[in-house]
Amino acid sequence: MASLFMASACSHKAEEASADDFNYHVDRFADIEVLRYKVPDFDSLSLQQKKLVYYLTEAALWGRDILWDQNNVNNLAIRSLLEGVYTNYNGDKNSEDYKAFETYVKQVWFGNGIHHHYSTDKFTPKFSREFLEGQIAALPAGVVPENTNELVEVIFNPELDAKRVNQEDGADLIMTSANNLYEKGLTEQEVTDYFASIRKPDDPTPISYGLNSRLRKENGKVVEDHYKLGGLYGEAIAHIVENLDSASHYAENPAQKEIINTLIDYYTTGDLATFDKYSIQWAEDTASQVDFINGFIEDYGDPLGMTGAWESIVNFKNIPASKRTEILSANAQFFEDNSPVDPKFRKDEVKGVSAKVITAAILAGDSYPSTPIGINLPNSNWIRAAHGSKSVTIENITQAYDAASHGNGFNEEFVIDEPTRKLLDDYLFITDNLHTDLHECLGHGSGKLLPGVSDGALREHGSTIEEARADLFALYYLADPKLIEIGLLDNPDAYKAEYYKYILNGLMTQLMRIEPGKNVEEAHMRNRKLIAEWVYEHGKDANVIELVERDGKTYVQINDYDALRGLFGELLAEIQRIRSTGDYAAAKVIVEQYAVKVDPKMHQQVLDRYAKLDIAPYKGFVNPVYTAVRDENGNITDVTVSYDESYTDQMLRYSRDYNGLPLK
Ligand code: ZN
Repeated sequence: MASLFMASACSHKAEEASADDFNYHVDRFADIEVLRYKVPDFDSLSLQQKKLVYYLTEAALWGRDILWDQNNVNNLAIRSLLEGVYTNYNGDKNSEDYKAFETYVKQVWFGNGIHHHYSTDKFTPKFSREFLEGQIAALPAGVVPENTNELVEVIFNPELDAKRVNQEDGADLIMTSANNLYEKGLTEQEVTDYFASIRKPDDPTPISYGLNSRLRKENGKVVEDHYKLGGLYGEAIAHIVENLDSASHYAENPAQKEIINTLIDYYTTGDLATFDKYSIQWAEDTASQVDFINGFIEDYGDPLGMTGAWESIVNFKNIPASKRTEILSANAQFFEDNSPVDPKFRKDEVKGVSAKVITAAILAGDSYPSTPIGINLPNSNWIRAAHGSKSVTIENITQAYDAASHGNGFNEEFVIDEPTRKLLDDYLFITDNLHTDLHECLGHGSGKLLPGVSDGALREHGSTIEEARADLFALYYLADPKLIEIGLLDNPDAYKAEYYKYILNGLMTQLMRIEPGKNVEEAHMRNRKLIAEWVYEHGKDANVIELVERDGKTYVQINDYDALRGLFGELLAEIQRIRSTGDYAAAKVIVEQYAVKVDPKMHQQVLDRYAKLDIAPYKGFVNPVYTAVRDENGNITDVTVSYDESYTDQMLRYSRDYNGLPLK
């Protein structure tokens, strides 16, 4: 529910960035571009804060292999095999096989395993099986795992583990998903029955069942193995805990020290009630400048939305930019009270929406290399209601996306005319950031469930509906005069930049991420399509949005921005009703009607126009390198940051220095 991913590769020409000679571009392969991000103001942190950040980044990097193993049972062994071949290769590096092999290795690194990070489809190798087998045979003993035949079969047989997260209607979502959150052979029914049997009825403060465990069968009974010290992933968790412990000595204040210690306690016991305690302490800490998430957080990797993928982001507050989100938070009650939803679904009192703009210092686990641009946590609804949530916009990441997209030709190809391009140039960066702020700090936090409606009532459509709710809240309020009144925008037409981009993306350009013949599956993409298609259809009679054909190309033209805002409000009311009442049937209908099916003609057109631009559909990041400078006694006297590591070097270094789990 809590991560927001970059909506599009839409370009924007900020003057300040044209003078910027930082090299954002790191690598380009398949459908991926790897960028790097700056960590501005790292040097302005105190030595104590730098040490805190340093140990937290170490704790972050040590979790990498957990995620790899969660994604697929063979991922770590396959990585070891691929890296063994890659680093020992001394044949012709210009051969087609080698080039395809290198691309595949880079894809696997990016996906944290053999499946695409976004579509979750298994990568198809474009080199021959003979090539790989020949390379393996030529390797010295001990370089690669022993069961290579089995691994090669997994790589090449398209039938095996075809999809990491299968959401297809009617399928057994557990049996047909290739993740390693459930032992192979378990059925969806067995998993559902198991959780039904342990869930306490009418519990007002339920733990997040299944968040940190893998299910398997023992003597015909389903049992749960918890991720914890001494348990599943215990070896990697020991390294995480050791670095968290070091970090705790440099906490900025006693509350932060307590938070870190509670997290250690949770990793030690695997107790989800302790995780809730940690989440509450974490949500309530708004005083510390340095902050971090570290743990099993988002559940997109589980078709049933229960188990959390391991991730970490270490960050510190961008104090000047946070003024923006502080103003929004201070007005949270106004936004709640005036939202276009039925009053009985509104929160009477919006509690503790704390929002800030942050600078990411490291991205790890499920947030690396592909990363969210905003986060809103914790995910547990009762904690959010009782203790508030923390919402962040990661501005050094949005800044890097923006700077890297300069001059890529996107606007010239897809935006209908010069005045609209000018509108985007002038206002898209600020309205995009505001959209993220509104989505994260107010959208997800708004509204309430009616008594007796459970968090999981919308099942496989829950994520899409929740993202739609947060996006619609943001879209609706972007056009509100309130934003001008509180000084966040200076032009009553500024919102049109985000409206235009949103509709263009939802109706057309996001399709560049989908392979021909496939449907839209990922929750954030479904949400954007749902919103754009719904308002297009419901505004048809009044010609609110028009698809204009010119020289065989389709362009989005928005004829009535005001009416479009009205439609966003109408849809928000309906989506909130679905969420508040847990109306699964209505969620299913609206998602299936608007969010999933792709028009093949439009799809092909978008792919063709994109192909000419050579813009990567997906982007991700390498991390900066932090180095602890030590005196002769080993004490840290400074922490420096550098930005010169290549994608390949970083991946190989992480595999070598942070291999926290033994190969099975
Ligand atoms: Zn979201």
